[in-house]
Amino acid sequence: MRVVDIIEKKKHGKPLTAEEIDFIIQGYTDSTIPDYQMSAFLMAIYFKGMNAEETANLTTSFVNSGDKVDLSAIKGIKVDKHSTGGVGDKISLIVVPLVASVGIPVAKMSGRGLGHTGGTIDKLESIPGFKVEISNEEFINNVNTYKMAIVGQSANLTPADKKIYALRDVTSTVDSIPLIASSIMGKKIASGADAIVLDVKLGSGAFMKSLDEAKILARTMVDIGKSLNRDTIAVITNMDQPLGYEIGNANEIKEAIQVLKGNGAEDETTVALTIASYMCVLGGAFEDFESAYKQMTEIINSGEAIAKLKELIKIQGGDPAVVDNTDLLPQAKNHVEVKAKESGYLSSFDTEGIGITAMLLGAGRMTKDDKIDFAAGITLKKKIGDPVEVGDTLCILHTNKDNWDDAYKKVMESINIGKDKPEPMKYIYEIVK
Ligand code: URA
Repeated sequence: MRVVDIIEKKKHGKPLTAEEIDFIIQGYTDSTIPDYQMSAFLMAIYFKGMNAEETANLTTSFVNSGDKVDLSAIKGIKVDKHSTGGVGDKISLIVVPLVASVGIPVAKMSGRGLGHTGGTIDKLESIPGFKVEISNEEFINNVNTYKMAIVGQSANLTPADKKIYALRDVTSTVDSIPLIASSIMGKKIASGADAIVLDVKLGSGAFMKSLDEAKILARTMVDIGKSLNRDTIAVITNMDQPLGYEIGNANEIKEAIQVLKGNGAEDETTVALTIASYMCVLGGAFEDFESAYKQMTEIINSGEAIAKLKELIKIQGGDPAVVDNTDLLPQAKNHVEVKAKESGYLSSFDTEGIGITAMLLGAGRMTKDDKIDFAAGITLKKKIGDPVEVGDTLCILHTNKDNWDDAYKKVMESINIGKDKPEPMKYIYEIVK
């Protein structure tokens, strides 16, 4: 087989065989195929696309390029969830204890944040003592005993995706649906999930900016899951504003605690309960979504959900007292109030800009080696549709930096105030099964 023939075939929009795809993926992973040929191949996929069979085969090649997590020692259906990346997205912190409360094993492997979106692992590390690296044996034991564990992704999971993602970033080939779908599904399948709930974000803080695009991505991922024997459901959710009111790390933990105590923001609570309910259905605990949702709400109201989060923190070495006293979480030294300069209604956010603001305050990474300040972040005081008067506080910036001029400028550009009250927004757009 010659790489140039495979590129030529894709350039003309012809479907590739599983062998051709695997040849180019494994060859690139072991560096026998150079960057320039992979770049041309990625651009051919970008323009000509891939059919469902090719996309599933590409996913399988990603999975086979590295380690596969063996969760067979865990009893029951292992259900995972994945978000395509949002701002203020603390859903994993909420759904893990919720789903574990009904006895479904949640063996969660999560990532760190990069750019304008945060990562669950960074958020958890803001809890004093919380260990995100535990042995494989402890991970399996915890899931069998307590039905939950959250760890950082293993270093050698889908190395082909890691290498190709870095190349996509510099060859303008990130926004290709077959490439995004196979990248995400490859990681989930290599992590050992039996069933997957996907949270496909749509809006100004997300990859997908239109409902049509989000539906195609959701459908592509669900079809990959099905063709590789993983029950998969996608929920398309709103990312035209940050989820909830807190963006950062420690302050997102604080907000997740509020949701699990039943005092959470409506958007955050609705999306979290929806994802958790579909996880419960795929895990076989409930026949239908409605009864799962009712039970999730009861688990929160009875105090079981927050007790389960406390248990998770304790078994992974963290201080469970943070649940009752969130002042024990890292606190920033500066709290800067951002005031409205005009009256009207909060009409829209540039949500990506809000994520970038959090990063500038120290809450995120510009490059993967940057160190995070767990106390940094943003507390929103207004959301879309709220009335605003001149001088009202729109949000508070938390930082340990002594200069926050860039962040202040960015946040001012990212919040728009208009004269008319905007239409109420949907939290959930569509379910793709
Ligand atoms: N997230 C991923 O893991 N991969 C992509 O290609 C895009 C988003």
